[in-house]
Amino acid sequence: MRKPLIIANWKMNHSIEDSLKFITVLQNKLTFKSHAEVVICPPYTALYSLSVLIQEKEGLILGAQNCYYGESGAFTGEISPVFLAELGVSYVIVGHSERRNLFGETDELISQKVQSVLACNMKPIICIGETINERNDGKTLGVIENQLKQAISLVDKKDLGKIVIAYEPIWAIGTKQNATPGQACEAHQHIRGLLVKIANQNLAHEIRIIYGGSVQPTNINELMREKDIDGALIGGASLEVDSFLQMINYHEIK
Ligand code: PEP
Repeated sequence: MRKPLIIANWKMNHSIEDSLKFITVLQNKLTFKSHAEVVICPPYTALYSLSVLIQEKEGLILGAQNCYYGESGAFTGEISPVFLAELGVSYVIVGHSERRNLFGETDELISQKVQSVLACNMKPIICIGETINERNDGKTLGVIENQLKQAISLVDKKDLGKIVIAYEPIWAIGTKQNATPGQACEAHQHIRGLLVKIANQNLAHEIRIIYGGSVQPTNINELMREKDIDGALIGGASLEVDSFLQMINYHEIK
């Protein structure tokens, strides 16, 4: 059984003070949930404060939005996966399309990051997805296949069960135009099929494939009802406590 994952990606939003307020309010409203793992990925500056707060109460898991692959050294401005693990971070988003497109991250760099995150006993959330032009040209499945294969090219087979794949069509990110459950399922089924070939049946069925791209309280339920969608990576709609809380409790939305 794959446990659903609901992940907040705050991107470059929320000061330390705002982050602490958010988590305090969320923890007060959240009764411990066993139906899903709930991961918060704040900006780096809030990670330490949140790690202290999150350790005090059950129910939330700390994630990071990015990291470098080197353990230490002359990499000005970068953050080592070792430092993230030291803070109690459990998940790290790798290869988000904003990192690929705005900061020039290549498939090769992403594969190194994935490998390093795993080496530090954390779980990489590997983002893959097509542009609108690639979709219109019928290239979606080929593009995500290529991105996936490259991202996991350095991963030891025994570690494959620890990865999370986030299918995030670029045209759906921050646009309020989510993929339909059918479009998401087509991609997720293709990804699962690839994982079966790369790993094996059992391992491939343990790996969670989550969807990201304009997930909102109004659409999360229909997406999560699909058996091939194992969770959601949520940007904009995770910034406000009540909206995020509704999405954690997606099964209660009518
Ligand atoms: C994201 O940043 O990964 C994302 C899916 O953003 P949004 O939910 O705002 O589309």
